[in-house]
Amino acid sequence: MAMQEKCIEPSFSFLKQLEERSGQPVSRCYQCKKCTGGCPMSFAMDFYPNQVIRQVQLGGKAKLLSSRTIWVCACCKTCKDRCPNDIDTSAVMDTLKEMAKEEKVALGDNLVPVFHDSFLSSIERYGRVYEVGMLAGYKLKTKTYTQDMQLGIEMFKKRKLKILPEKINQLKEIKQIFDKAKEKS
Ligand code: SF4
Ligand code: SF4
Repeated sequence: MAMQEKCIEPSFSFLKQLEERSGQPVSRCYQCKKCTGGCPMSFAMDFYPNQVIRQVQLGGKAKLLSSRTIWVCACCKTCKDRCPNDIDTSAVMDTLKEMAKEEKVALGDNLVPVFHDSFLSSIERYGRVYEVGMLAGYKLKTKTYTQDMQLGIEMFKKRKLKILPEKINQLKEIKQIFDKAKEKS
C-alpha cells in the first residue's frame, strides 16, 4: 500500500478569528516587509512584524501566543502608516496579547515583563522612549549586562542612540494617562 504523505494545512479558522477580533485585514498582506523595515522595536523581537502577520495567515497560534514580540511591540503605529494594505499590526499584537492572557500561555521569555515595565517607565518619565535609559534599567534588573553589547555599540556609532533623554512638551497629559491607568488597576 502506498504510504500517505502528511501535509501541513494552514489554520484558516485562526486567521478568521484574528481578523474578526482585531478588525485587521490580515489576509491582504503580501509580505512587502515595510512594517518591519520601520519598526523601532524589531531589535528585541523574536518574530518581526511581517513574520507575525505571516504566522497568523498560516495558523501559527501557539508560536505567536508564547512569543516575545507581542509584548515588546510599542504600539507606535509606524507599521500601520507604512503598510500598503492598511494593516495595523499593533492591533493584531494587542489581540494576540489578549488571547495569551485568556489562555494563560506561559511566556517563552520570562524577562519580557521586565522589558515591558522599563519601556513604560521611560514613556511615563519622558513621554517618549529614551532607549539608553530604558535599556540600562532593563539590564540592571535582569543582569544581562553584556547581551546585545555589540549591537548597542554599532547603534551608537551610527548615531541611532541619543545619550541624553528628550522630554515631550505635553508630558503633563502623559502623566495624567498613567495616573488614570494606575487608579483602575
Ligand atoms: S507592511 Fe503590510 S503588506 Fe507589507 S508585510 Fe507588513 S503587514 Fe504585510
Ligand atoms: S506598532 Fe509595534 S510592530 Fe508596529 S512599528 Fe511600532 S513597535 Fe513595531
